[in-house]
Amino acid sequence: MAECLFCAIVAGEIPSTRVLETDRILAFRDINPQAPTHVLVITKEHHPDVAALAAADPGLLGELVSTGHRLAVDEGVAEAGYRLVFNTGAQAGQTVFHVHGHVLGGRNLTWPPG
Ligand code: AMP
Ligand code: ZN
Repeated sequence: MAECLFCAIVAGEIPSTRVLETDRILAFRDINPQAPTHVLVITKEHHPDVAALAAADPGLLGELVSTGHRLAVDEGVAEAGYRLVFNTGAQAGQTVFHVHGHVLGGRNLTWPPG
């Protein structure tokens, strides 16, 4: 069993609801959704956070971001607007240290809600 939760999901050792897969990227539904659409988009390769990925492989980061947009289109939330969020570091709320973008949409995400 992989030590990293998301590496274990990539390996299929932990089940997930997969919504998209390419040779380098995997997307699956968040287990604790914060919006009607809440999908996580990750690299199959382990990188601890988005800054580390940007330094190691900017092309793959570009693929991750464009896949996040593709997911928003597929989920029908792109036109109204969505968030692609990379929590980076513990104080920002990052709990899984394998790079992941949260694709959030389907409700008003502005703060304060207007
Ligand atoms: P973060 O807090 O930015 O590190 O995001 C980690 C996210 O992973 C949280 O939104 C969790 O709900 C989600 N999560 C944790 N375990 C699982 C799992 N087994 N399957 C899907 N999502 C998960
Ligand atoms: Zn990992």
